[in-house]
Order: sequence, then structure tokens, then C-alpha cells
Amino acid sequence: MRVPMIAGNWKMNTTVSEALDLVSAMKGELEKINSVEIAVCPPFVSLAPVKELLRDSSIKLGAQNLHFAEKGAYTGEISPLMLAELCELVIIGHSERRQYFGEKGDLINKKMVAALNAGLTPILCIGEQLEEREGGKTEEVVSAQLREALAGIEDPKATVLAYEPVWAIGAGKAATGGQANETIAFIRQLIAGAYNDKKAREIRILYGGSVTSANAAEFMQQPDIDGALVGGASLKHKEFLSIVNQTAIVKYKK
Ligand code: PEP
Repeated sequence: MRVPMIAGNWKMNTTVSEALDLVSAMKGELEKINSVEIAVCPPFVSLAPVKELLRDSSIKLGAQNLHFAEKGAYTGEISPLMLAELCELVIIGHSERRQYFGEKGDLINKKMVAALNAGLTPILCIGEQLEEREGGKTEEVVSAQLREALAGIEDPKATVLAYEPVWAIGAGKAATGGQANETIAFIRQLIAGAYNDKKAREIRILYGGSVTSANAAEFMQQPDIDGALVGGASLKHKEFLSIVNQTAIVKYKK
């Protein structure tokens, strides 16, 4: 069975002291749940202090972005090697980076290669815009995004995929469990085609887009959904804990 994962994407929220408070508020309860892989992805500046707070903890730490070069004259950027000392995971291809920072397939592919080379586990985000869904183009869009991001990557190692329909992110309007599962099952087939059936069975594919404690169970009941990438609700410790708890209950109920 694939171990479910719940990852919190804090985006550009929390100062260092707020990040430490948020982790402190939920750490003890989260650590009691060992059937779900739990990760938090705070802003870069909080990675080192949060790492210290999570020393010896089962809670994993992730970054929200990286540059593809190991080092060099890229003012303001953060390299994979810098991250590899601090965290295990890195979010790549988030729709906000595609939308506000013009990130496209070839850049996302370079970031994927760099992250994997540095020993980081990417959480690769893909998903369609509202017009694309309404135009019946969801499968075409996610196929292209996946193909571009994984181009030339022979072994994506432990890469986690996150299907995040852009129209559901931060919108308060999630997809339905059925809609999300349908597209995620399709993405799993794409992985089978690009790699093999074993990889498709093993790879974890999360849903992301307005997941809260009120709808988490609906997503977790779906057979192809292996967890969630949670934005807004991951900033409220009780919400995040409830999502993790419900995931543990729903996924292991049989
Ligand atoms: C996200 O940032 O990846 C996300 C899914 O955000 P939200 O849960 O707020 O929609």
C-alpha cells in the first residue's frame, strides 16, 4: 500500500517566530500519527529554525521552490545543495509559480533534474485552468505538463505528484472527490506509459485545491488519491491536524 502523505504549503506566510509557533502548536499531536507521512513547507527563511525544532521528529520538512543551478551568480536564488542540508522535499511547478513567475515546462524540468540530483524529493504540481477544464482539455494539459516536467528523467525516484486544478487553489471551491480521482487515475496511467506499471502503482499522487477538515475525508476515500497538498488550511494547526487524522482513519479503515 502507498503510504499517504499530507503536506502543508505555507506559501508566503509566517515570519520565523510565527512558523515556530505553528509547528510547536501541532508537533506533539502530529507525531502520534505514524501511518501518514506528514510534511510542512514553510518559507525559505524558516527552514533552518524549523529543522532545529523538528530534530528527531517524524515530521518532514520541504521547501517551496529552488533554483536549478548548484551555485553561482543568481542573486536572490536558493540552490538545491543549500536545500539538501536543510530539508528532504521541495515543491516544484506550483501553479502560482507558473502564473506569477512565468515558470514553464523546460524550467520546471531543470528544477526536477536538479532536485533529484541533490537527493531532494520533488512534489511536482500539475493541473489545468478553469477554461481548460471547461473546454474538455484537462487530460491534454496534465499530459503535457507531466511529459515536460519529467523529460529525460529515467528514474523519478520517490517523486510525489500533486494534481492541483488551478481553479480550486485558494478558491474555497474544491474539486469533488470523484473529479479529482478521475484525473489522478489518468495521471497514474500516464506514469505507467512513461515508466512502467510498478512505478504507476508505487508513485504517490496527492490532490491539492481548497482541502479543509470539512472535505478531506471525501478525497481520502478515493482509491487513487494518496493524500493532499494543503495550502490555506495548513496554516491553522487544528485544521491541519484534523486533515491528517482523517487521512489516517479513512485510509486504514479496512
Ligand atoms: C496549494 O497551495 O498548493 C493549495 C492547494 O492551496 P489551497 O489549499 O489554499 O487551495
